[in-house]
Amino acid sequence: MNPQTPILAGNWKMNKTPAEAAAFFAAFCAAHAARTDRSIWFFPPAISFASAREALRDRPDILLGVQNIHWERAGAFTGETSAPMAAAAGARLALVGHSERRHVFGETDAETGRKVAAAVAAQLLAVLCVGETLEQRRAGGLADVLERQLDAGLADIAGDLTPSLVLAYEPVWAIGTGVTATPADAAEAHELLHDRMVRRFGDASSAVPILYGGSVNPDNAPALLSARHVDGLLVGGASLDPAVFARIAAASPD
Ligand code: PGA
Repeated sequence: MNPQTPILAGNWKMNKTPAEAAAFFAAFCAAHAARTDRSIWFFPPAISFASAREALRDRPDILLGVQNIHWERAGAFTGETSAPMAAAAGARLALVGHSERRHVFGETDAETGRKVAAAVAAQLLAVLCVGETLEQRRAGGLADVLERQLDAGLADIAGDLTPSLVLAYEPVWAIGTGVTATPADAAEAHELLHDRMVRRFGDASSAVPILYGGSVNPDNAPALLSARHVDGLLVGGASLDPAVFARIAAASPD
């Protein structure tokens, strides 16, 4: 059993119009009453953020975040959203360095560091995503990749800012593939991340939650939540259906 209450987070990626977001929350809120023994977060696409916020106006127990931010506050960056803008729109969280940002859009380790710093400066919780590809895992590079991504992502963060951080371990080979890391795989990676945080920032960083993501579903959620240092789940595909995600939101460790 992990010390803190679990975080169950849905990352919708590029899915759901404003109307679909409203319909999702009407169904999800009917299926999931507020509970103090867990935290529920969603990351809708930016275009549907206002609709999601409106649909959740009576549900302060459910927090919203953005899927990506730019590191500058404002300016000539067509297509981007800044951290202060996200906060002003009601976001409490920002994903940074999701594997699709890194691998599809070419986001670099250094850019993730600037984004984490910008999120924290705007009073958002920064959810830094890290994870290895299958080739890196097969080459025995798990620890090196995680340490490199962690160190770069937190390059501008001082120890007293760790309450503004969440980590997400998302092995690239498990995202959207139906292949889930075993609880033992997750525990191994989460322990590496936990130990690296404590070495770098001291014991207080033990409280930084570490989420697992990659083909989570209602059936594997309890076992993954039972793994050591797994403090919650970041869910893509299985967060799109309100009934399916309601089962994950209700999951408890085995
Ligand atoms: P998945 O995505 O649950 O569809 O594998 C997880 C994620 O990318 O956050």
